[in-house]
Amino acid sequence: MVLLPIRGVEAADNAVAPAFKPRLPSKSVAGKGCIVEQGRIPAALRVWFAQQQRALPWRVANAQGMRDPYRTWIAEIMLQQTRVEAVIPYFENFLRVFPDAQTFALAAEVDVLRAWSGLGYYRRARMLHAAAALLMEKYQGTFPPTAAALRALPGIGAYTAAAIASLAFGERIAVVDGNVKRVVARLFAWELAADDKQLELAARQQGAVWMATLPLDELAAAGQLNEAMMELGATVCLPRNPLCDVCPLRENCLARQAGRAAQLPLPKKAKKWVDLEMVFLVHRVGERVLLAQREGGWSPGLFEPPSILLAQQSPAQAALDLQGLATQSAAALQDHGVVRHTITHHRIRAFVYSLVATTERPTTSGAQWLDPASVPLTGLASKVLRCTFA
Ligand code: SF4
Repeated sequence: MVLLPIRGVEAADNAVAPAFKPRLPSKSVAGKGCIVEQGRIPAALRVWFAQQQRALPWRVANAQGMRDPYRTWIAEIMLQQTRVEAVIPYFENFLRVFPDAQTFALAAEVDVLRAWSGLGYYRRARMLHAAAALLMEKYQGTFPPTAAALRALPGIGAYTAAAIASLAFGERIAVVDGNVKRVVARLFAWELAADDKQLELAARQQGAVWMATLPLDELAAAGQLNEAMMELGATVCLPRNPLCDVCPLRENCLARQAGRAAQLPLPKKAKKWVDLEMVFLVHRVGERVLLAQREGGWSPGLFEPPSILLAQQSPAQAALDLQGLATQSAAALQDHGVVRHTITHHRIRAFVYSLVATTERPTTSGAQWLDPASVPLTGLASKVLRCTFA
């Protein structure tokens, strides 16, 4: 990789350079003339992006071509966990309910979680909400314009801070996500795994080099380059089947020349799954159901029917134990089979039972009789309720 002297990029980007001794093809890149000028790739990407970018609801720009920071922020957080097509309806609904940072900051948490419901990773919604409150307190509802200041807000990491700072404020800082790492690894034919820290560092350094080539009088250039890299990774430089024939960088791409495009970056190490068996009891009176708010683990604050980890007892007995209903006969339970769900590194098999009652029995477990449509539910609870209400 050609590392040019960099001006105007964050010290942190330069600071990592001495420690980084990657297997990078710096000589071959220069020697084969693949990167004749460092500025050619950013220029080609920006031209391609101007012509080919998808129309997405968060891509709203002002007269100077700068994105709206609030929309960028919400979209980037949502996009960390879900595909673009799936995010669009959630994003549009979220913006309808909370059109700006001020409205969002003043909202009740239960309303925020409801608007987020279905996206998963509810901790992110809470952090987002906490960050909105801080924006009101410290910045009167506006956004600080630098990645360094944005990173001080809850839930905003290096990636999101760089995205907001470059897209909305023109800071020359590279965004590095999975798509960007894939594109850069292939361009330089780096034999590194997708989750290798060296790849992250190298992509960040290369991004800084490209940022330094952008025209100084174009405020929107940094954001355009970042969006173009991400867009190329999302639509052309695809993980399994890169569409090299239509890629604007095909003449510069070493992985393509080596016939290694689909193999790079190298695969991540396999995830270690934890398998859990759980039993859920959906205890109903009419349309109301006993629901408990989760306190820890995944999706804290969201609601689920009471559940228990399956140990020695039978699933039906566990369902009765759940509500202190051991005096009832298991014959009173309706068996709805098994629901499968994965969250973070957990693979869950959930045995689902329901019990229909005529009166709302008081509980000591903290669970409440609620209409499930009125509260935010975990993804697993939605699946469990769907099968019992079907
Ligand atoms: S030529 Fe192919 S592998 Fe190389 S950047 Fe373009 S799409 Fe990716």
